[in-house]
Amino acid sequence: MTIKFGRTLPPAAAPISFRNIITGIIGFFQKKQEINRFESELKDYFGVKHCFLVSSGKAALTLILRALRKTHPDRDEVLIPAFTCYSVPSAITRAGLKIKLCDINSDTLDLNFDQLQKILNSTNRLLAIIPTHLFGIPADIERLKNQINGSCIILEDAAQAMGGEINKKKLGTMGDVGFFSIGRGKAFSTVEGGIILTNNDKISETINDQIKKISDYSLIEQMKLLFYAIILLIFTHPSFFWIPKALPFLKLGETIYDPEFDIKRMSGFQAGLARGWQKKLKDLNTIRKTNSEYWAKILSSQPFNSKLQTQNSKVLIRFPFEANTVKQRDIILRTSEKQGLGIMPTYPGSINEINELKNQFEDQNFPTAKECANNIITLPVHPFVSHKYKTKIAALIKSACQ
Ligand SMILES: *Cc1c(COP(=O)(O)O)cnc(C)c1O
Repeated sequence: MTIKFGRTLPPAAAPISFRNIITGIIGFFQKKQEINRFESELKDYFGVKHCFLVSSGKAALTLILRALRKTHPDRDEVLIPAFTCYSVPSAITRAGLKIKLCDINSDTLDLNFDQLQKILNSTNRLLAIIPTHLFGIPADIERLKNQINGSCIILEDAAQAMGGEINKKKLGTMGDVGFFSIGRGKAFSTVEGGIILTNNDKISETINDQIKKISDYSLIEQMKLLFYAIILLIFTHPSFFWIPKALPFLKLGETIYDPEFDIKRMSGFQAGLARGWQKKLKDLNTIRKTNSEYWAKILSSQPFNSKLQTQNSKVLIRFPFEANTVKQRDIILRTSEKQGLGIMPTYPGSINEINELKNQFEDQNFPTAKECANNIITLPVHPFVSHKYKTKIAALIKSACQ
């Protein structure tokens, strides 16, 4: 890998401000008050009855799955798209459940509903299905509801879609239970964090039992969060982002499968850091939408085979599009790396290609998920994408199409 010195766009950014750090430190000293405030703000904004705050999106997912398992002891399978974040299978394994995969539709990144029907017909051990608003593109939850007709739980993965909507409904509130991530690279960030939302009293009660069993952040762990928040405050800026990017031990942008993660209740520091999140999210998402519309226009004037990019005049955290060939993808990525343009690949492979999981899916193929992992790249849409960067990226895309 070559190291680029100087101005480099991060692939995604929800900047943390100095003020956020101050309110975080205040939150540290009044934990109960800050957690209650953040929870009730979330319940208000999303119009849901129950909300739980934890240490990450994968912790949120694990706790939801443990709770669902308690009420359905005869069901142990969880169905996910074969193209998704590696944290999702990590959480399913952590909850002691089995992963079922369904291929996707490359134009929408939603489930392949024909294949889903075949899977539904072949098992009665399905505990939950996890429709995913990948990059913020809304999954078709209504269609899924009609198709499964109450036969299992809909667990909405809105990790990348906080603040997004479809038909006036807020993403994350349309299934039986849903979760967000507020980790690095998500819609907005408290360094790490996860949010669970549900209107279902029974599910809420069993999640509450699970939350009682986990621990709080220690003092040292909260000091670490403070340290990372300061690092993010400084190094998310394009003038400095090349520095953490050049340090391989930080593992920026790496996606790994690892079921051994911490599961904790959110700290007062994180809840304090989130103060003012409604305005921040609104402002960020307005810019993301404008930039996504710009990319949709640029890409639609070029000869791309995929229809993915035409779907995307939405609030996205990164703008995905499918290159026509792996070669074209590599040209764009290599040039972006040299010029510091923040264009990124997505996940290193489909879920069945993960080394630790391979043998569970030996005789199964998910060709579209695999194709998406190979060919999709994402353009940055955050507030640091200035006019100058837009011009450079647009020129790169044009030249890669010649
Ligand atoms: C990030 C992410 C998660 C997990 O969230 P963390 O806070 O990183 O644990 C789950 N699903 C999707 C689609 C994600 O992008």
